[in-house]
Amino acid sequence: MDGLIYLDNNATTRPLDEVVEAMLPFLRDEYANPSSVHRFGQQVRHKIELAREQVAGLINASPREIVFTSCGTESINHAIRGTLKSRGKRHLITSAVEHSAVRTLVKQLRAEGIEVDEIGVDHGGRLNTAELETALREETGLVSLMWANNETGVMFDVARIAALCKERNTPLHIDAVQAVGKVDIDVATLPVTLLSLSAHKFHGTKGVGALFIRRRTRVAPIIVGGGQERGTRAGTENVAGIIGMGVAAEIASRRSDEDRRRIGELRDRLESGILDAIPDARVNGCREHRVDTTTNIGFKRLQAEAILILLSEAGVCASSGAACSSGSLEPSHVLEAMGVEQAFAHGSVRFSLSRFTTREEVDHVVELLPPLLARLRTTMRV
Ligand code: PLP
Repeated sequence: MDGLIYLDNNATTRPLDEVVEAMLPFLRDEYANPSSVHRFGQQVRHKIELAREQVAGLINASPREIVFTSCGTESINHAIRGTLKSRGKRHLITSAVEHSAVRTLVKQLRAEGIEVDEIGVDHGGRLNTAELETALREETGLVSLMWANNETGVMFDVARIAALCKERNTPLHIDAVQAVGKVDIDVATLPVTLLSLSAHKFHGTKGVGALFIRRRTRVAPIIVGGGQERGTRAGTENVAGIIGMGVAAEIASRRSDEDRRRIGELRDRLESGILDAIPDARVNGCREHRVDTTTNIGFKRLQAEAILILLSEAGVCASSGAACSSGSLEPSHVLEAMGVEQAFAHGSVRFSLSRFTTREEVDHVVELLPPLLARLRTTMRV
């Protein structure tokens, strides 16, 4: 959309032109079913295997360790349910700030009798690892934690967590949906057991994800039917989506540090511009351990929803972690777990950037936000 300033990249990213171009033939001409034995089908199968190599390459896995799924949510469900089922254990450890893909599943698992420990975070949003150490026990079937938080961008110390789980001989699943393409991931050196990815968060398209399952790990399938993905995940493949994910992965793995630094500088420019111009604004989450693309800013005694509507009218797309239920804004569970004061939590807005974000866009937002918030405060007083 012309004239739109898109700062909602943690919700989804714009597919790269190279991704769309690579996908088009598979929507039109190369429509064969990759499970078909004829040559037409086998050509498509071959392309899927190339995409598998590209996705594996992004995290330094072996292609045989990659299973294509329909999204990050499915990968997460597969990793958690599948592992608990195959190991026959009834204790799960996760955190208080996970994405709803984990939280809703946890609720369901609890209702089914699985015991779940939710590890807390500190004020900066970092996991309390001492609490994790205490929670780990013989019956623990899996530890499932996120790498980067979708609301704040704050990253857990995955290396430390992975070392701890390895030491205690407990499988670890990492929800890396918000980390892929933003940080280097090397599963050859990082001892994680499972890792979830989603294409649309790194400039692929929606409707396709992947799950890394380390060699020799037993994970029960959750979608059963045909023998696709070597019996791990049934259902005819989203061929075009998979091809696009492969290209997005290939491009992400070639990204330079310089490019990442550029986004980080833009994020910092946006953040300091807003903090300098607006009194009673605060950053939520520790600034040292964040992905470069995200800032979450709390505006005291304002409602995030009202800010987002005014921003939207001004052509700016941003987001908040608050969920509107029955007319009242519930503060985000992430900010709540971090102990962010209510006065700031309700008015917290997430700005998330991407490689497409420009300096002009950032400067425009810094310029328009102060009068917009001033207007909001005036209307609140009448
Ligand atoms: N995990 C995290 C941290 C996310 O941010 C998201 C999506 O926002 C998901 C999981 C779910 O991914 P998908 O939209 O591909 O189902």
